[in-house]
Amino acid sequence: MDRPLALSNQHFNKALNRLPLGVTSDFRYWGKDQTIYVDHAKGGRLWDIDGNEYIDYRLGYGPCILGYADERVDAAARAGMNIGGVFALSTERECSVAERIAKMVPAAELVRFSNSGTEAVMAALRLARAYTGKDSYVMVEGGYHGMFDAVAWYTPLKDWDPSQGDPVVTPMSEGIPELIKELLHMVPLNDANRLEELFKAHGDKIGAFLIEPMMGNCCSITATRQYLHDARELCRRYDVIMIVDEVKTGFRVARGGIQELMGFEADLCTFAKAMGNGYPIAAVAGREEFMRLIGDAVIHGGTFTCHSVSLAAAEKTLEILDETPALETINDYGSRLRKGMGGILSRRGIAHSFVGHPSMSGLFFSEVPPSTYRDWAKTDYRFYEALAPELHNHGIICEPDSREPFFLCEAHDQACLDETLDKFERAVDVTIKNFGSNSKHVAC
Ligand code: PLP
Repeated sequence: MDRPLALSNQHFNKALNRLPLGVTSDFRYWGKDQTIYVDHAKGGRLWDIDGNEYIDYRLGYGPCILGYADERVDAAARAGMNIGGVFALSTERECSVAERIAKMVPAAELVRFSNSGTEAVMAALRLARAYTGKDSYVMVEGGYHGMFDAVAWYTPLKDWDPSQGDPVVTPMSEGIPELIKELLHMVPLNDANRLEELFKAHGDKIGAFLIEPMMGNCCSITATRQYLHDARELCRRYDVIMIVDEVKTGFRVARGGIQELMGFEADLCTFAKAMGNGYPIAAVAGREEFMRLIGDAVIHGGTFTCHSVSLAAAEKTLEILDETPALETINDYGSRLRKGMGGILSRRGIAHSFVGHPSMSGLFFSEVPPSTYRDWAKTDYRFYEALAPELHNHGIICEPDSREPFFLCEAHDQACLDETLDKFERAVDVTIKNFGSNSKHVAC
């Protein structure tokens, strides 16, 4: 059963004349016959221009934590529109939103706003280098930190042979200077010994350790509490700034994000997605001694920072997340979704596990969940890749790439859950039928 996509296909062909790949972010391109265009969305549901209705578990890659077109946030944003937009001056609300963030995240003593996660991470890295006077930095394999040159690197594992040593650090795109590689070190997650060895060898040149402790772009594979505490201590010992990228986890996995969940505090941290329920706003925040460099030795700013619409949306979103049980509602849904999906898969003898937090679950077709990106790459994710298009056909939107977790929002209600599980079950059965017996996951 393929859903109708004639209008999306038609629009794709038109858009291709003006937009590379017919879209405005590479990840929105799903292939020439499968790229869909949105008509509108509300709550946890989305409708494409062919009239197909979906329960959406992508939610814009995480931002819509309360749901699409949330009336409380949109009313606040409309009021923000009346304020005037962008001024080349500041408004009082910037301080009140910063105060809310500081209340929710103790390490966020001072805050500066940005427009996107990318910009916030750029600012954090600059601050770390300025504070330490050291330009090299460390990233974790499997992490993603945005589109700027310093962080757009990864370790492709397709042809990696572990006996040959570490995977090769590679730019995500052409146009990224090779020179950057001289400053960048990559380490596997959850190996504090490796981190210490690196700091021992190069700590005099390393200014920042940039980590996404729950890798929202890699199945939500999560750092252990022990690793985070060890890394925290090592950063202190070697004068390295610990930048915790909470662009996906911030205000989502707990009011105080992954830092609250794991009981540690960053030197600098970055936020974006859940902060404004989809309105474009981000923040770099951290300890006063680092953040006070801004305006002294370090530049930070941008024409559109703290647009009055986004800022008003953030104020309302954070108020709701902080003062209502929205996160508990989401977690409860996430746990029931896992239980329901897990039951469906178990009854069919399909090995699986869930990774990360219930509000951003990685679904993984193996009994033992991965604890590093290298683990993920060693496994067979073909079943997920076959299942995802079936889910789309049945009206459930998840990412075609198995590395993106299922994002949940407060608006996902019991009706969404019942419908999701019913459709998931049917999609699994179609996938088993089509996938054949060559899957090592499918024991039937
Ligand atoms: N950091 C993390 C952890 C992210 O997941 C992302 C985006 O997905 C970014 C940074 C970049 O954010 P943006 O896409 O808003 O630039």
